[in-house]
Amino acid sequence: MSQVSRDTFDKVMVPNYSPMQMVPVKGEGSRVWDSNGQEYIDLAGGIAVNALGHCHPAMVKALTDQAQKLWHMSNVFTNEPALELAQKLIDHTFAEKVFFANSGGEANEAAFKLARKYAADNFGPEKNEIIAFYQGFHGRTLFTVSVGGQEKYTKGFEPLPGGINHVAFNDLDALEAAISDKTCAVVMEPIQGEGGIIVPDEAFVAGVRALCDKHNALLVFDEVQSGMGRTGQLYAYMHTSVTPDILSTAKSLGGGFPVGAMLTTEKVAASFVVGTHGSTYGGNPLACAVAAAVFDEINQASVLQGVVAKHDYIKAKLLAINEQYQVFSEVRGRGLLMGAALSEAYQGRARDFMNATLAEGALILMAGPNVLRMAPSLLISEAEIDAGMAALERAVKQVVNS
Ligand SMILES: *Cc1c(COP(=O)(O)O)cnc(C)c1O
Repeated sequence: MSQVSRDTFDKVMVPNYSPMQMVPVKGEGSRVWDSNGQEYIDLAGGIAVNALGHCHPAMVKALTDQAQKLWHMSNVFTNEPALELAQKLIDHTFAEKVFFANSGGEANEAAFKLARKYAADNFGPEKNEIIAFYQGFHGRTLFTVSVGGQEKYTKGFEPLPGGINHVAFNDLDALEAAISDKTCAVVMEPIQGEGGIIVPDEAFVAGVRALCDKHNALLVFDEVQSGMGRTGQLYAYMHTSVTPDILSTAKSLGGGFPVGAMLTTEKVAASFVVGTHGSTYGGNPLACAVAAAVFDEINQASVLQGVVAKHDYIKAKLLAINEQYQVFSEVRGRGLLMGAALSEAYQGRARDFMNATLAEGALILMAGPNVLRMAPSLLISEAEIDAGMAALERAVKQVVNS
């Protein structure tokens, strides 16, 4: 019998979360069990993190092998897993240089600092403005919440870092009006995640790139959520004609082990000279060994094509549920980053659907109060999708009839 329970949370934890009553204790693939032995289908993938599901054998092996060898050295030394992972990222993306961090927020912090430093080095200190988008999400450090376009995450934390402006997402005219030669970077998620699973138009993405080029501003793609195969390509920018100058990646990169990375070109990387930026744990051998194993599993045509097929399968199921209950106004997203936007009658009730789905045996996420979000393992099976969607359907029926 465990000494701790959900009630312990309220006694010992800072109250910035409000976790579910059930406490997960074990996971395998896309199944999770709580402390009472109850089984659930995981359609959340952690939170778009467990790209290979829970306790994938390749990850367990990478972690335990590395655990017998070397856990940590400072960045006074390099290490083999970090170099191997960096080489893989470079071989399969636009990147020529890599910086390792421990989370998405930290990868973005490095990205934004590098954009400022590059502009200062090459154009002078006046070129320091960052333009980002409303509803964007980039992490929880003070700089990253400030670049993020959601007031609820900055309220009460003022004064905020300056030189940051926001414009409407997917609105090229708004960006054109705001951008100038003082802009050092435009920061965007190629698919807005927390903001509601918003896929921008191809013309918008291409237009952002053109405006950045015109004003010598760097284009920073936050692919913390959209990256590492989640959309059916290794990174979401690969669906477009556009290549960013800096890209941040985390979440699925470690498949459940904390790791983040900032990818960039040789030219831009040159502004992070020795001593300008760093991290104690960034590039940790355990994290990089796990991430390298995750990378090799995901970066296979069969897995990436499977993501596209699973998207279609889940979408058909969601549309069938909607046919019967008319709860969604739209099912959207790309690959296994999917959103079901609630219709007019159910605005603000995403949490009710999420809670009801949990009670019926499946884990889903929200993307704001009006969108149900699904970001399961890229390896989720058809049988697991069937079971998860059946739970969601029972939950929808309950909410509709309540
Ligand atoms: C989750 C997320 C982050 C923050 O990552 P952390 O690992 O929580 O710091 C940043 N950007 C996007 C797009 C995310 O989805």
